[in-house]
Amino acid sequence: MITREEYFKRLSKMNRNLYANGEKIDRLDERHEPALNVMGLTFDAAQEPENKELCTAISHLTGNTINRFTHIHQGPEDLHKKQDMTRYLCNKVGQCIQRCMGTDAANAIHAVSYMAQQSPEPKTAYHDNWLKFLERFQNEDLVGCCAQTDVKGERLKRPSEQSDPDMYLRVVEEKNDGIVVRGSKVHISEASIADEILVVPTRALKKNEKEYAVAFSVPADHEGVKQIVHFHNLRKREHYQRGIEIGYTDSYVIFDDCFIPWEWVYTCGETEHGGVAALLFALFHRHSYSGCKPAMLDYVIGLAALAAEINGIEKTPHVREMLSELIMVGELGYAAGYTSSALGKPEVYIPGIGFLPYGPGNFIPHSIYANVGRCLSGEAVFHEQEILCNIAGGMPATFPYEKDLINPETKDILEKYIKRNPDIPMEEQIKFWLSFVDFALSGSSGSMLYGAFHGGGSPVMEQIAITSQYDIEARKEIVRKLAGMKTKE
Ligand SMILES: Cc1cc2nc3c(=O)[nH]c(=O)nc-3n(C[C@H](O)[C@H](O)[C@H](O)COP(=O)(O)OP(=O)(O)OC[C@H]3O[C@@H](n4cnc5c(N)ncnc54)[C@H](O)[C@@H]3O)c2cc1C
Repeated sequence: MITREEYFKRLSKMNRNLYANGEKIDRLDERHEPALNVMGLTFDAAQEPENKELCTAISHLTGNTINRFTHIHQGPEDLHKKQDMTRYLCNKVGQCIQRCMGTDAANAIHAVSYMAQQSPEPKTAYHDNWLKFLERFQNEDLVGCCAQTDVKGERLKRPSEQSDPDMYLRVVEEKNDGIVVRGSKVHISEASIADEILVVPTRALKKNEKEYAVAFSVPADHEGVKQIVHFHNLRKREHYQRGIEIGYTDSYVIFDDCFIPWEWVYTCGETEHGGVAALLFALFHRHSYSGCKPAMLDYVIGLAALAAEINGIEKTPHVREMLSELIMVGELGYAAGYTSSALGKPEVYIPGIGFLPYGPGNFIPHSIYANVGRCLSGEAVFHEQEILCNIAGGMPATFPYEKDLINPETKDILEKYIKRNPDIPMEEQIKFWLSFVDFALSGSSGSMLYGAFHGGGSPVMEQIAITSQYDIEARKEIVRKLAGMKTKE
């Protein structure tokens, strides 16, 4: 395992392939600092003895102690720990902890590369390649991100039906020593501060869509990879310091006829396994949401309860009702994830067939519960904002600028009219409302909500997974029996 400083040093040596707001920038550009603060915590946490159980693991490959973010889940206990580590670390930053996308993609590729290597004519030793990469990923404590989402062009057309075939990333050439890929993956979280990009397909693929069935890893600064970065940072503070400066980034990751050596390729042309790679990353990622969404609910509940206390309305029935609603969503999301971990197996649900063993034995969360938890808590984010808005009143929308709050000409008079609860010091009330604004009314909060709603797949994708995998026929049978109807058994 390495320290945050060693990680920063590694980033400083990477090639300049990042673009932001018309400039070419370094990994250590100051606009990256808030995101690096957050990612840095994943290194700090693993070094602290009290976090040993939660934030580190023993590699099943080498027996070394590794950062849990680089671990392949070996049983339900590992799935529980990933969920709990995610909630614990998200609670420290009040946002996404940013490193689970790489973990989720690694767990998906671990299984897929194994199965793809057993296909009749594998183009390379996919799983052997993967194991070499994984050993380095774990030993060097690499930060991975996952590039799954393609631009997708005309939404109702399949990859092979698009007017422009590059709307889904594809292999444009196969060579003796590797492949050439073209396309763009979008909204890729933390690609700009990742060491490696793990690429998987977006969707299930048909037999004639072989060129789209490709999974590989590539250094984030590799030749032919270009990133256009979007920063999500909060307004800088000078006087009322935050507990921690946080932020995150997303990139358009463009593969401009990028050469990928075979050693980094984990499936190529096996449409069945390409589809499972898409499904499995989404599944592992939805399971991660059962850690981060409850953590975000923890934060929202705290914000709602403190806003109620400052407004002096904490004992009113409507506030109690809203708080209980928030608690229910957070803890049901957690419970669904917990069940999904407990029922995890090295199996994948294949539509029309059922659960089948898949991969070399790494544990995969139970799909129904991971999807139910993700869908329930993902769809709730805008309603949570409604509750915050309801309890806070209009104040956060027009809260004074920091400089007006400290200007001797306006400070006292503003404090007189901002004050709501005489028992809470004004400095505390001001810091609270500034944080409330950060969370609920900043530009960064807007994109966070879109990420919470769509990340890991839009709700309709979870609904499709749930209804296509749930045994609805068995429920119809229950009714038929109880109603005295003819049963189908
Ligand atoms: C902040 C943020 C961070 C993200 N991070 C990552 C990341 O790290 N890695 C990654 O790979 N992705 C990431 N994503 C992408 C995320 O997974 C996608 O946004 C999500 O899968 C939805 O895809 P889309 O944005 O293209 O929306 P669309 O798919 O265009 O969805 C828009 C609407 O169209 C509907 N729709 C789309 N296609 C169809 C169809 N065929 N039939 C019927 N309806 C359809 C959808 O249901 C939805 O209602 C991130 C997104 C955000 C916002």
